[in-house]
Parts: sequence; structure tokens; C-alpha cells
Amino acid sequence: ASGYSLLRDPRHNKGLAFTENERDSHYLRGLLPPVFLTQQIQEKKLMHNIRQYQVPLQRYTALMELQERNERLFYKLLIDNVEELLPVVYTPTVGEACQKYGSIFKRPQGLYISLKEKGMILEVLKNWPERSVQVIVVTDGERILGLGDLGCQGMGIPVGKLSLYTALGGVRPSACLPITIDVGTNNEKLLNDEFYIGLRQRRATGQEYAELLHEFMTAVKQNYGEKVLIQFEDFANHNAFELLAKYSSSHLVFNDDIQGTASVVLAGLLASLRLLGGTLADHRFLFLGAGEAGTGIAELIALEISKQTGNPIEENRKKIWLVDSKGLIVDSRKESLQHFKKPWAHEHEPVKTLVDAVKAIKPTILIGTSGVGKQFTKEVVEAMASLNEKPLIMALSNPTSQAECTAEEAYTWTEGRAIFASGSPFDPFEYNGKVFVPGQANNAYIFPGFGLGVIISGAIRVHDDMLLAASEALAAQVTEEHYERGMIYPPFSDIRKISANIAAKVAAKAYELGLASHLPQPKDLVKSCGGLGSKYLKRPGFIRNNRATNGDNGAS
Ligand code: NAP
Ligand code: MN
Repeated sequence: ASGYSLLRDPRHNKGLAFTENERDSHYLRGLLPPVFLTQQIQEKKLMHNIRQYQVPLQRYTALMELQERNERLFYKLLIDNVEELLPVVYTPTVGEACQKYGSIFKRPQGLYISLKEKGMILEVLKNWPERSVQVIVVTDGERILGLGDLGCQGMGIPVGKLSLYTALGGVRPSACLPITIDVGTNNEKLLNDEFYIGLRQRRATGQEYAELLHEFMTAVKQNYGEKVLIQFEDFANHNAFELLAKYSSSHLVFNDDIQGTASVVLAGLLASLRLLGGTLADHRFLFLGAGEAGTGIAELIALEISKQTGNPIEENRKKIWLVDSKGLIVDSRKESLQHFKKPWAHEHEPVKTLVDAVKAIKPTILIGTSGVGKQFTKEVVEAMASLNEKPLIMALSNPTSQAECTAEEAYTWTEGRAIFASGSPFDPFEYNGKVFVPGQANNAYIFPGFGLGVIISGAIRVHDDMLLAASEALAAQVTEEHYERGMIYPPFSDIRKISANIAAKVAAKAYELGLASHLPQPKDLVKSCGGLGSKYLKRPGFIRNNRATNGDNGAS
């Protein structure tokens, strides 16, 4: 291999950080200017450049270009500046990138499987150069963040999520495979856009959709075996629940919008009990929004209460109420409800508005998962404040513009009594001389560590108890010092350590449940997870022959 091609191989390129020796031994003399820059200086220079950009999308493009030029430096940058760069590679900027993906598209960053590939998906998978894939993130682009149907341009989401698997969880990049399934789009704007990169047709549904997905699921298992984690991402709820139910007994599947969200929110709830008092079973929950997020969280709460009290889950569900676009979900609506809402149709007279639902149900905890902003009005929040000494309010809808209320509103309208967390980040807020730090229920707290735990243990199925283990592990990392500032999540700057701890608990649960296949169980799981998590980055920058066929993360 020539030095010239080495510089064009993102996995091994070090740019100006190639040493004199390396320049000699790898035929790089003359191909680089004379200067030698340490990775540290390269990092400093890049962050300087990125901070110059005022437009978020320019930052995104700069980062994607770096990923395609010098992968290791990209991950180093992401890890060392996680709080600053997360909003770029992930929500909210990744959303804008998807909207404009057709125009900014340069090189494929993952696999595209469209209706055209029906009947040959296995061959398509074999076109991907990496053999030992451990995590696949797949979308069909129908519900990208809160932005709706972006069709084939949803690819930015799997790419972004997987970069966090590496940066936060430590899974090596070559083990990560982003996939977009293109069954068409119902987005008129894209259908009429001459730069659109996807199939120019309306979405396939019903049998045609199910058959393509089934061929995909079968081909993945055939090609990569039973231990590849398939994360479903940003499917519309009518497909999301069905796919998860259909494949959870035969494949290693995880839906981040349903299960990841549930786990991160439950963690916040468990942590907040230290401030609220009582056990989870002592509380009453009201949700605005009964979709993937809302019902997913509700179900995990009911399950956790069962674990704690031994009560049947049906009984625990009665402490949890949901409001959808038609009002409170009650038994008289049961006939016409989608199946995932039916378990929540409790006995009650119809209630139309949220404020009336708050007054009728008297919740101690109010959670917004509607995707619609400004729904926690002053009246709603004041009603919560009059019912509770410390009302817990979670405004989870993304992006920021869709939040049910802002941090400022929650703290002012409750005269500083609220415990507040949101989906999109809010700055700390000072009220009556006290600084309140809002929590961010970011899925990125959970999925990288969860995935790492699955990989380390070689789990062959995802079990709900593994989600509970992740929630408990995250909640356990909130300290007194955090509570004093009103926080119910630990600071994101510690995310690598947090992820390693979550991974260890998830792996331990997999062993306990008999779902782990990497035997014997490592003695110190935290060490294995932390160690493997940072191994990729600690490796010397240039390892040419280490194509790691066996996987650096395999526990074997
Ligand atoms: P989804 O499956 O489409 O569900 C949305 C739900 O909200 C539906 O039940 C819908 O009612 C209801 N709804 C819509 N407008 C409403 C209104 N005006 N009043 C009351 N209910 C209304 O979406 P999702 O996946 O659950 O996501 C919902 C939101 O949660 C998104 O904004 C997303 O960004 C956010 N989210 C946050 C996190 C996080 O913070 N970590 C994680 C995941 C999702 P119908 O069923 O009657 O249509
Ligand atoms: Mn998602």
C-alpha cells in the first residue's frame, strides 16, 4: 500500500501527526508538509475552526468531513468536547442536516436498502466492507425527531447515533453499521425536490412493507449472526410497536424511541424520589402524549413498581394516566383506541383538556411527550403547584421549540418549587437568588452504555429487566451535590464513566437472566466495560494490520 492511499484512508490517516519514523516507513515523505503536529494541537486547531462557524449546519459538515478524513481525530474531538458537539452530531442540528441531506450528501456513510433491493438484501449486506458488525442502527425515515417523514434522508440519524456508540460507549467504529430502509416517502416537498436522494414514490405499506422488513431482518441474522444488536430508530409509531413485538423473540432488537426513552426517563424518576419522597408506587403519573415515548415510559414505570412491590402490573398501570390528542384516555374510548393505548384506558368519565385532567387525576408527576410545544400552560403548571409541595414536571418534546414548557416557566410558575427536566437542553435558571439546573432526559445517557453491556455479555435477546438495570444504574450516579442544585441526572461531562457503569449493570443482568453468551462472566464487569470502552481510543494512532476481524469489543 502506498503512502498516498494511506492518507486517504480515514481509519488510519493521522494527517500531520505522522511521526518522522512513520513518514519514512510508510512512504509518506513529501506527501505532507514538513511540520509535525501532535493530536492535541490538531484537536485545538479543529475546535478553533469549528467555533468560528456561526451556522450550526457548517459545524455539522465540518465534523462529517473530519470523520471521513481522520476518524480517530473525529472521535477524540467528540469525546473531549462532548457537551459542545453532541448538539451538532445529534439533536437538534442532525435534524436540519437530514432535511438538507440531498444537498450536502457527499459520500455514503452507511447502507441504503430500498424496494429496488427486494430479493437481494443479503447480497447488499455483503457489499458492506466490514464483516464483524456488532451494532446496526436502522431507520425508515418516517418520523425523524419531531420533524416527520424525511424518507431516505433520515440517514443522518443512524450515522449520528452510531458515532455516539463509539464516542460514549467505546464500540469500535468498524463494528457499527448505519442503515436506511427506503420504502418511499409521503413528504411532498421531497418528492418534488430534484436533489432528493431517495425513491420518488409514496410509502409502501401493509404486506409490501412487512415483506421488505422481514427479508431485512432475516438477512441481517444470516449475515452477522445472532449477536448483532439491531436498534430501530425513528420509525412511525404504527410500525415501531409492531416491529418490536414481532422481532423481540427472535432477534436482538432495541427501539430507542420506545425503550431507550423509557429507561432514561425512569432513571430521572427514580433519582427524583430522593427529592420528592416516597417510593415510585406512592406517586400518580399523568402524561400528555400517548405515543412511542409516552406509553413506553408508562409501561416501564409499571414494571418497575411491580419489581419493587410484587403487585401485578395491571394494578400498577392504574396509577398512570395518559392524555392524547382526543383527551384523557378512558374506558369509554377503548373500542376506537390503537392497541398500544388500550392498557391505559382506566375507568373515568371523559375529560377533554389537560388542565381538567390535572384537576381530576391530581398527579404528582406530569410528563410531556406530545411533540407539541407550549401545552404546559401557566394554568396547568399552577394546578400542579397547588396540588404538590414539589411538583415534578418533565417537558420532553423536542426540539426546544416543541417543549411543553421552558425551564424558566416551570420554576417561576411554581415559585421555585418544581423539579424540572426536559428533552432538549435548557440553561440553568436563577430564581429568588437560587440557581436551578434543569435535567436533560437525553437518550444518549442510556443507549451507548446499554448497547455496550449487550455486546460485552454477548446477550442474544433484550429483556425489559436489562432496561430497568440501566435506569437504576443511571439514577445511582446522581449525588447529593447534584440534588442540591435540583439535578436528577448526573452531569453529561462524565458520560464515558456513566456509560461504563450502565454497561456493567446491563451485562450483569444479562448473565443473571441466562441471556449472555460470552462465558465465563468477567470478574469485574465495570473494569471490562470501562476498559473496552476506552480501548479504541487508547490504541496508538496508527495500526495498519489491525483490521480486528475478531472485534476489539468481544469479551471472548
Ligand atoms: P408519537 O408516537 O407520534 O406520539 C405523540 C403523541 O402525542 C400521540 O399520542 C398524540 O396523540 C399525542 N398528541 C399530539 N398532539 C397532541 C395534543 N395537542 N394534545 C395532546 N396530545 C397530543 O411520538 P413520540 O415518538 O412518542 O415522540 C413524542 C415527543 O417526545 C417528540 O417531540 C419527541 O421529540 C419527544 N421525545 C423525547 C425524548 C427524550 O426527551 N429523551 C425521547 C423520545 C421522544 P394521538 O395518538 O391522538 O395522535
Ligand atoms: Mn429517535
